[in-house]
Amino acid sequence: MRFLDEYRDAKAIRGIASAITKITKRPWTLMEVCGGQTHAIVRFGIDELLPKLITLVHGPGCPVCVTSVELVDQAIAIAQRPEVIFCSFGDMLRVPGTSQDLFAAKAAGAEVRIVYSPVDAVALAREHPDREVVFFAVGFETTAPSTAMAVVLASQQHLTNFSMLVSHVLVPPAMEAVLSSPHNTVQGFLAAGHVCAIMGYTEYEPIAARYRVPIVVTGFEPLDILHGVLMCVAQLEEGRAEVENQYTRAVRREGNAQAMWAIREVFEIVPRKWRGIGPIARSGLGLRAPYDAFDAALRFDVATLSAEESSECISGLILQGIKKPIECPAFGTRCTPERPLGATMVSSEGACAAYYRYRRPAAAPSEAVA
Ligand code: SF4
Repeated sequence: MRFLDEYRDAKAIRGIASAITKITKRPWTLMEVCGGQTHAIVRFGIDELLPKLITLVHGPGCPVCVTSVELVDQAIAIAQRPEVIFCSFGDMLRVPGTSQDLFAAKAAGAEVRIVYSPVDAVALAREHPDREVVFFAVGFETTAPSTAMAVVLASQQHLTNFSMLVSHVLVPPAMEAVLSSPHNTVQGFLAAGHVCAIMGYTEYEPIAARYRVPIVVTGFEPLDILHGVLMCVAQLEEGRAEVENQYTRAVRREGNAQAMWAIREVFEIVPRKWRGIGPIARSGLGLRAPYDAFDAALRFDVATLSAEESSECISGLILQGIKKPIECPAFGTRCTPERPLGATMVSSEGACAAYYRYRRPAAAPSEAVA
């Protein structure tokens, strides 16, 4: 626990919160991009330690939340085929599609299995040569390397019964979509440290320059997040807009060369529709042509399925930092983790789930660190 204790030390946290208060002269709105950071902020009451001039809004950094309804419906359609063993990370099972979720499909007889790694799905395909094993490849740049390696492995092993429904999304284009919106209020970003551990942060440099917005690569513990806020506010108060790295213990500017090789070998950049937000150009990863044989959307002919999103769920506004979960009229009433209307109430990184768990009106106070 040595490292956790250091980054949750109450005295250090009070010191950094007071440094933020000292340098903050004007109101600033910052967005933490990653859902993991959102959960830490709400869980530890980090926003409550900040001066009132600083507003934290929550970003589109939860891959489960932004996977489109079409892809969830495609996943269900594939899973319902009798020859298929459908493999997914557990979070995706409760995400509502148009009329049901994967969990309901499983309850009705579909063979849906939770796996902890795409390589587990490859192993299943090897063990069950008479079945079609399909992996739901959801995630940002963080999980794309392991997905890519699973495809390479399946290709090397000449597996003909393994494929993937690919829903990978990329963070920098989503940040640009937020900044380009006429409703944007974000003046600085805390960028997700684990994404940058893979990709480095060179892709953020043109964004910081183009939109005149500071971007601070930030970790996930309370002290990391407050330090990221301090670095971001210092830039804003000084009129700077640069990319800085708070998470130096895990992130290098150039990222992880091996992981990026795997991504580039297997995937190409494609347009992607984001749940609640809509299409964002060049914001997804799709399989490159040499790996078409592993594309489940092609193999099962589901790529053309279209779907309607719930008109009641405002998660798109939440994921763009325009609204907070408690501003949703359905929050905690018609929408709960047991009966979710949107993915942000289901995912372990979802903003609505964080507010429901740690800050619903009747809940105990957050685990304040000070
Ligand atoms: S509370 Fe439910 S309905 Fe409202 S935005 Fe969140 S997920 Fe959507």
